[in-house]
Amino acid sequence: MTRNIPYSKSSIILFITSLFIISCSADKGGENSDDGNNPSLDFEISSTTSSAGKSAISFQTAKDVTKLLISAKSGKNNSIKFTKVNSSNANYLNPGNEELSLAKQATPIVNSINIPSRSIDEALIGSTKFDVEIEVEGTSIEGDQITFSVSSRADTNFNSGSMLINVFYVGAVGLEETTKLAVKEGLNVAQNILSNTGISTSIVEKDITGPVNLPSPFTGSNIYENASKSVSFPAINLFVGGNIDESSDGTILGISAGIPGPATPSVKSAVVVSIFNSAGADGRFSQEDIRILGETFAHESGHYMGLFHPVDFNGSQVAGTDPLTDTESCSFITDCISRQSLIENLMFASPVADGNGGFVAQNKLTNDQKSVLNRYIAVN
Ligand SMILES: [Zn+2]
Repeated sequence: MTRNIPYSKSSIILFITSLFIISCSADKGGENSDDGNNPSLDFEISSTTSSAGKSAISFQTAKDVTKLLISAKSGKNNSIKFTKVNSSNANYLNPGNEELSLAKQATPIVNSINIPSRSIDEALIGSTKFDVEIEVEGTSIEGDQITFSVSSRADTNFNSGSMLINVFYVGAVGLEETTKLAVKEGLNVAQNILSNTGISTSIVEKDITGPVNLPSPFTGSNIYENASKSVSFPAINLFVGGNIDESSDGTILGISAGIPGPATPSVKSAVVVSIFNSAGADGRFSQEDIRILGETFAHESGHYMGLFHPVDFNGSQVAGTDPLTDTESCSFITDCISRQSLIENLMFASPVADGNGGFVAQNKLTNDQKSVLNRYIAVN
C-alpha cells in the first residue's frame, strides 16, 4: 500500500516496495456528517472477545443493499483480522482461497472488508444474512470490546458514480502557497485518472494543525480520527504532510491505511502523501513531479478502495499478485518492467524510469480494477 520513489531517478530500474499492509477500520458512529439521503453508517455492534481472542456477529442487510463495508475495531489496540465473512451463499473473505483484501491479515487496531469486491464475486440481491468472525492478536486478547461498524449502499450502478475526497493540509504544508498550488494541480491529475474509471470526484480542502512528520496511517493516529470526524463520510481522506514516519529512508511517496480503508471516522481513516519525497531532492515541483504526485494521490486512493499492486516484489522476485484476472503478471523484475501495459498501470508498485531521464506515466486501469473501485462503499 505504499508507493516508493526509485532509488535513482536516472536508473532504468525501479524500486521496490515493501508491502506494508494494512487494513482498516471503523469506529464511532452516529455522527454521520451530512448526506442525509445516504446514510453512510448503518449501525454498530459491540461484542467482547473470548479467552481465545475471538468474537462474532451476525446481521441481515436491508433488501435494497448492493454493497457494504464492515469494519472491526479493537478497544485494546490489539491487531485484528477477519476469520469469516459469509453470507448464506458466499464466502467473501477468501473465495477459492484467494484473498481479496487485507481483511484476513492481522493489522493494528482496525480492519475492514468491502462487499462485494470484484465483478465475479457474488452480488448482493435482496436481504442477506451475514456471519462475521474476527480474532485479535496482542498481549491481552481476552475481553477486548470489538466495535463492528457496518455501512451500506443501495447503489445499482457499478460502472460509474461519484465520490468525495477530503484533502487535509497538515501543519506548515498549508502555509506554503507553492506547495498548495502543486497539490491542486496534482489533484486534477488524480481526478482525471479516476474519471476514466467512471468515478467523478468532488474535493473539499481543509487546513489542520499537525506535525511535519505524519504518523503512518497503517498504525493509526488520533490526528486521522479527529480530522475524519470533522468532515463528511464515507470518503477518501487524503492527508498531505511533509513526511511520513515510516519513511525514514526518504523513499515513500504515500501510504494508505488499508486495502480497503474504513468508511467511517477512525484512527486509520486516512491516505497520507509525503510532499517532501514527492518534490524530490531539489525541493521544487517540476511538471513531472506534479504528475507523479497526482498519480500517487490516485494510487494510494486505489489501495484504500480495495486494489492491490498487480505484482509485488521481494528483491527482484515477484512475491505476490493481485486477485484480478485481467491485470498482467510476470516473474521477475526485469521481465515485469519490460511489459509496457504493466508499468503504465496506476497500481504498479512504484514509478519506472522511461530511459529518457523521465518517468513512465502510470495512469491506466484494467476493467477488473475499475470494477473494484466502483464497488467501494464511498462511491455512490
Ligand atoms: Zn502501492
